Amino acid sequence: MPSYKKLLFIVNPHAGVRKKESVLTDIILTFSDFYYETIVCCTREAGDASRIVREHVDDEIDRIVCMGGDGTLSEVIGACRAYEWDKPIGYIPAGSTNDFAASLKLPMEPAEAAERVMRGKPHRLDIGRFNGGYFVYTASCGLFTKASYDTPQRTKNLIGHLAYVLEGMKELTQIRSWHMRIMTEGRVYEDNYLFVSICNTFSLGGVMNLEHAQVSLSDGLFELLLISMPRDLLQLRDIIQSLREQKFESPLVQFRKVDQLTISCPDKADWSLDGEKSEGKEKTEIAVIPGAVRILY
Ligand SMILES: [Mg+2]
Repeated sequence: MPSYKKLLFIVNPHAGVRKKESVLTDIILTFSDFYYETIVCCTREAGDASRIVREHVDDEIDRIVCMGGDGTLSEVIGACRAYEWDKPIGYIPAGSTNDFAASLKLPMEPAEAAERVMRGKPHRLDIGRFNGGYFVYTASCGLFTKASYDTPQRTKNLIGHLAYVLEGMKELTQIRSWHMRIMTEGRVYEDNYLFVSICNTFSLGGVMNLEHAQVSLSDGLFELLLISMPRDLLQLRDIIQSLREQKFESPLVQFRKVDQLTISCPDKADWSLDGEKSEGKEKTEIAVIPGAVRILY
C-alpha cells in the first residue's frame, strides 16, 4: 500500500460550502482515495487563508488545496508565494465569483473539482506583483471596480456590462475618472481614465472577445485595458461603440500586452485585486512574475 502524503485543505465556509452537508466528506474521501491525509482548516475572515498557509508551510505539506471563491484562491496563492512554498496548488471553486475557475475550465461541482485536482497535472501560471502584494488574474481600477467586488458570476460579460452602464449615463458628470500617468514598455500614457484593468485570464479575456490563442496564462504578459474619460457625449458614444464591437482601436479605448507598469495617480484611486478591495496609493508598481505558481488541473 502506498504511504500517505499530506494535504492541507483550506476551506472558506462562507462560500456556499454549508449548503451541501456531504460535500466536504466526499472531497476528503476523494483525497483519501489518492492516498492523501487531509488537514482541514476553515477560514473565518479575510487574511485567515494566508495565516493558515504560514502556519503550515513547514509541516511537509505535499499539496495545498483551497475551496472557496477567487478571493480565497488569490489569498492562498499570494501566501504561498510570500512564504516561498512552491508545490502544486489545487482549487475547488465554491464561491460566488469564480472567474478564474471558469478561465481554467474547472468543474463547478465540488466533488468533480476535487477529482480533477487529484488527477490533474501542475501547470505553471503567471501571477502579478502589485506593490508589496500579489494578484492572480485581475487588478482593476475605476468606475466599475466597486461593482466588481461583488459582481455576480452571471455578469459574465464585463465589457458588455461596462457598455451597458455607460449607456445609462446621460451626463458626463455622472462618470468619475482618475488622472493617471502610466509608464509601460517604454511608453507613457497620461489621461483621465474611467477604467483601467490588467488581467491574465480567459474569462475576463474572453469577455474582451479575445480568442484563446491570443491570451496565454503563462506567456509572461498581462493584458492592459485603458478607457479614457470622454470629453463630450459624442466621445462617450465612441467608447460604448468600441466596447460593443470589441474593437480597441479608438484612442479612448486602448488595449496592450504588458509585463510591467508603473502608475502614478495623485488621487489614490482604489483598486480591486481579484475582486478584493485594495487601498489606492499615489504610486503603483505592477509586474508579471512568470510561472510563479503551479496549479493542478
Ligand atoms: Mg498572459
